[in-house]
Parts: sequence; C-alpha cells; structure tokens
Amino acid sequence: MVALDFDGTCVTHEFPKMGKDCPHAVEVLKKIVAHGAGLVLFTMRSGDYLDDAVRWFAEREIPLYGIQMNPTQHIWTDSNKCYAHLYIDDAALGCPLIYDSQFAKRPFVDWVAVDRLLMKHDWYMEPIEK
Ligand SMILES: [Mg+2]
Repeated sequence: MVALDFDGTCVTHEFPKMGKDCPHAVEVLKKIVAHGAGLVLFTMRSGDYLDDAVRWFAEREIPLYGIQMNPTQHIWTDSNKCYAHLYIDDAALGCPLIYDSQFAKRPFVDWVAVDRLLMKHDWYMEPIEK
C-alpha cells in the first residue's frame, strides 16, 4: 500500500490548475503497481479538483486502490489516518526533490531518485501486502 500525494508529487505544483507531469512519475508509479502495491491517492484536493486528479491517473492507465482513504482499513481501525506502508509526498521529510525553476516554480518529486531508493532498500524484492 502506497499513499501518494498529487500536487508537487505526480504533477508540478500549479494548483488549482493541473501541473505538468513530474518526469518519470508515470513509469515509476506503473512499476510500483506492477509490483503489486495498491496506490491510494491522498491529496488536499477535493470536489472538481480531486476529480481532475483521479482523471489524471485514469488517462495514464494507473489504477488507484483508494481515493483519500484506504478502503479496507475500517475493518481493523477507526482511525482517520490513511494506512499505508509507504507515503510519497513532496512535503515529506527526506523525499527526493528536484529544484528546477525553469520547469516548475516549486520543487517536485524526483522519481528517478525515488525508484533508486526503492531498489536500494529492496522494496521491489519484498512481498507486498496490498
Ligand atoms: Mg504536495
């Protein structure tokens, strides 16, 4: 289970507009899904803006396991925190970022570095509990 932020993470932060795809986000997200992990979109977007984000995944054929919540955690907890094994968010401490003011006004997730980190920590080798 991977909880995933949207603005600054999947796309450059241009909210309320749709940002540009963060380089290599789509390929690494597809790799994560291919490994068997469910993706939960976990974003501050709501309403039509959330719909835009959900559409972004559909258009790129990246399946979402959940939107704003882990759909199965209610079985074992009443907590509002989205349960995930991994959180990828441009605001997370330690998340690798690219600072390229020509491409985007704000830093955005460095997906090549994320992929490298997942490989370094053998994440793709571990069995996944969806
Ligand atoms: Mg963000």
